Amino acid sequence: MLKLKLHWQILIAIAIAVVAGWLTDEQTRLFGIQALAIYDFAGTLFINALKMLIVPLIMSSIIVGVAGIGSSGDLGRLGGKTLVYYLTSSLLAILVGLLLVNLVEPGVVDGEPARDILAFETDGEAVAAKIGQADGSAIAEIFLRMVPPNVISAAANGQMLGLIFFSLLFGYFMTRVDHGTAEPLYSFWNAVHHVMLRMTEWVMMFAPIGVFGLVARTVSKTGFEAAGPLVLFALTVFSALVIHALLTLPTLVRMFARVPAYRLFGAMAPALMTAFSTASSSATLPITMESLEKNAGVSNRTSSFVLPLGATINMDGTALYECVAAMFIAQAYGLELSFSVQFVIVMTALVTSIGVAGIPSASLVAIAIILAAVGLPVEALGVLFVFDRILDMCRTSVNVFGDSCGAVIVARLQGEEGILESAPASRRTA
Ligand code: ASP
Repeated sequence: MLKLKLHWQILIAIAIAVVAGWLTDEQTRLFGIQALAIYDFAGTLFINALKMLIVPLIMSSIIVGVAGIGSSGDLGRLGGKTLVYYLTSSLLAILVGLLLVNLVEPGVVDGEPARDILAFETDGEAVAAKIGQADGSAIAEIFLRMVPPNVISAAANGQMLGLIFFSLLFGYFMTRVDHGTAEPLYSFWNAVHHVMLRMTEWVMMFAPIGVFGLVARTVSKTGFEAAGPLVLFALTVFSALVIHALLTLPTLVRMFARVPAYRLFGAMAPALMTAFSTASSSATLPITMESLEKNAGVSNRTSSFVLPLGATINMDGTALYECVAAMFIAQAYGLELSFSVQFVIVMTALVTSIGVAGIPSASLVAIAIILAAVGLPVEALGVLFVFDRILDMCRTSVNVFGDSCGAVIVARLQGEEGILESAPASRRTA
C-alpha cells in the first residue's frame, strides 16, 4: 500500500482542516456533537501527548549529551573549542531572531495582540498575571527558579528551568565519578533517550489528526484572519535564518578560520540540499561528513568529532526558531516582554536547542518547554504547525551549515592547512 510521508499527511490534514473549519461554526453539530468540541478533542489529545514526552525526553537528552562530551576521551583542546563555538554561534543565531521578532512584531496586528485572531483559548489577563508572578521582573528571580528546592516537584509542575539545570549538573558530574560508577548510569539514560525518541516518532504519527483539530478549530473560530500574523511570523523566521547563514556564520568563518567562507556553500551544497529535503540533521550526517572532508578538505579526525556532536547539540537554526516562535506567541498574548522574560526565552532556547533531536519537527517539544518556562499556555503552539514543515526544512539546512562552519573553524584553529583552498568543482575534477 502506498504510504504517504508524514509531512505530506500533515499538509493534507491542514488543507482538509481549512475546508472543515470554513464549513463549520459554533452551531454546527456532527452526530449531535458540536464540531468545535471534536476539533478541540483531537487537538488537545495531541498536545497532551507532546507534553507527556517533555520531562523524560529533555532530562535524558541533556544528561546523555553533557555526559557524552565529558567521556569522549578526546575532550581536551578539540572539545573545548568545539563547545565554545557551538554556544557562541547558537547565541548569535538567537540574538538575530530576537532582534527581528522585536522589530517585525508578527504577534501584533494593528497595534493589538493577535490573540483573538489566532483563537488562543486562555484568557490573556490570566496568563499575564501568571507570568507576572513567575517573572518577578528581576534576574535574581530567574536564578532562584533555576535552582529548584525540589527537583521532583519542579518536574511535576513544569518548572523547566530547574529541571534543565539539574540535568546539566547531573550529566556533568557523571563525568566526575569513576568510570565503573558512571557506566550503568550512562547506559540507563542513553536507553531512556532512545526510547523517548521512538515515542516521539510514534506521537508524531498522530500529528495529522492533531494538526487537523488545531487548525480546524482556529479557522472555524476566526476564518482566514489567522493567516496574516502566521505568514508574517514565517517570513520573520525565514529572514532571520537567511541573515544568520549569509552574514553571521560566514563572518565567524572569515574571522577565526581565515578562509573564504563563500566557498563553503559550494562545498556543502549536497549536505544542505539533503538537510532541506529531509528536515533531519541526523539523517543528513553521513553526507555532511562526506562533503566536508571531500569538498572542503577538513580532516576526518576533526570532522568525525565535531560533526556527530554538532548534529545532536549544535542547532543554530533551531535555537533561532524556538526564540522567534516563543516571542511570537508571547506577543500574541499581549504580554509585556520585559528584559527578564526575554532573557528566560533566550537562555531556554539556547539550552533546549542542545537537547533537541536531529529529526523533523523536534523543536516543537522544545518550544513547549520555553512556553512552560515563561508561563504561557502550551496549547498555543498549535498555530505553529501551519508553517512548521517548510520552516523545518530551512532551519535544518542552517543547522547543518552551522556545524560545517564549526568544523572548518575548529580544524583551522587546530592548525589544519589546505581547507577550502580551491573551489569544490575543481577539487572534484582534480
Ligand atoms: N529538524 C531539525 C533538525 O533535524 C530539528 C528541529 O528544529 O525540529 O535539525
